This record gives sequence, C-alpha cells and structure tokens, in this order.
Amino acid sequence: MEIRLQKYLADAGIASRRKSEILIQEGMVTVNGRTVKALGTKINPQKDIIKYEGKVIKQNTRHVYFMLNKPTGYITTVSDEKGRKTVMDLIDYPTRLYPIGRLDYNTSGLLLLTNDGDLTYRLTHPKHEVEKKYLVTIKGVPTEKQLGELRKGVNLGVYKTSRSKIRVVDAKEGLTTLQVCIHEGKNRQVRRMFEHIGFTVTKLKRTAIGRLTLSGLKHGKYRPLTKEEIHYLR
Ligand code: URA
Repeated sequence: MEIRLQKYLADAGIASRRKSEILIQEGMVTVNGRTVKALGTKINPQKDIIKYEGKVIKQNTRHVYFMLNKPTGYITTVSDEKGRKTVMDLIDYPTRLYPIGRLDYNTSGLLLLTNDGDLTYRLTHPKHEVEKKYLVTIKGVPTEKQLGELRKGVNLGVYKTSRSKIRVVDAKEGLTTLQVCIHEGKNRQVRRMFEHIGFTVTKLKRTAIGRLTLSGLKHGKYRPLTKEEIHYLR
C-alpha cells in the first residue's frame, strides 16, 4: 500500500507531519537515492528506501499481540480460497495481523495473533520448547499401557513425537477426557497420536501455551496480551 511521504516520516517518529513537509521541501529527504521535494509524493513502505539526512528511515510498525479463544468452524489462515470463515473474521483490527501456529478447523482454544514476525518465527521454530496444553475427548477408554506408549513418544510415519504428559481428567458415557501436554506442534499431532493407538478424537481444545492460559476469555473473543505475557513470550 502506498502512503504519503510526510506520513511515513511522521509515523517513523522523525517529526510531526507538518514539520516533515518542511523537511521534504527543504530537500532533506531522498526516495531510492533521489531527492524528493514534491509534497504529494507517495511511496511504498515495502519497496522504497527512504533516507533523511542520509540515514535510512524504517517504518515504525507498532507490534501488537492478541490472544483469541478460537471456536471450532474457523480456519487458521488470513484468507481462504474456498470462502470458509477464518480466524480473521473474529478480529477487528485495522492493520495486518497473522496467527502464530495453527489450530485445525475443528479445534478450539488458545490462538495467538501478532504482526511481530520475529516472535512468530521463534515460537513456531521446532527448537522452541514452550509447552502447549490440550484438553482432548476421545471415544472409548484407553489402557494405561496405550497412554504410556504415547507418553514415551510414537512414530507416526510422517514424524516421531517426543515425550508428552498425559493424564485422564474424566471418563463417562463411553468418552474419555484427557489433558495432553506437548512441546511440538506438528500438523494434526494430537489427533494423530490418538489415532495411532486406535481412538478417534471427538473434541480438541488448546487451553494453554506455556504460562498463557485462556482464563475467563469467552469463546470467540480476543484480548490484547498483557505486558507480562509479551515479556514472557519474547
Ligand atoms: N493437534 C491437533 O491434532 N490439532 C490441532 O489443532 C492442534 C494440535
């Protein structure tokens, strides 16, 4: 998206918009190496290199961080070519944000969204150790031996899972609810783990990412992260 040069300078904290206009008229600003004095000049912040007094001016994008309690029936992408509802339909924010990691269409729970590319990169990197907690409901009752297998790590063909913590929370009417803590976040990992020992997941909800929990955030709602939560993640 193109914006006016004086707005770009003002957003970057160089000067007020009015003062930035004066700086431009005085010939203090270059765009891709050429001095620009015309006030209506529009630039593309993604492509153009803007210099003031010979120094590159970076756009000052304020980083924002949100937590969403994702309902089922939403896809975790910014847009979907099949026209399905995406998590972005639940967020009303004027600039571009993107989800950190992914929850399946039929999975609910804690999803982080940000415009901080560095944080996204670090948190989704396989080496990142942050624990994710899930509440899982399966059809049937697994044996301790089967759960022990999952806890140790299993080879799912496409990948091998590492150790996980699993405990039964509830069992009734032929359904078992378990809490599962894993460090990775491979594609459909929790569902595949239970398929591996012969069970179908009927409900899956992510309740925590490290120390961050949904605590009181209603289904379909989102809130900004607190300073402490941002500090913890970074
Ligand atoms: N594991 C899954 O199988 N699905 C999710 O959405 C998250 C973890």
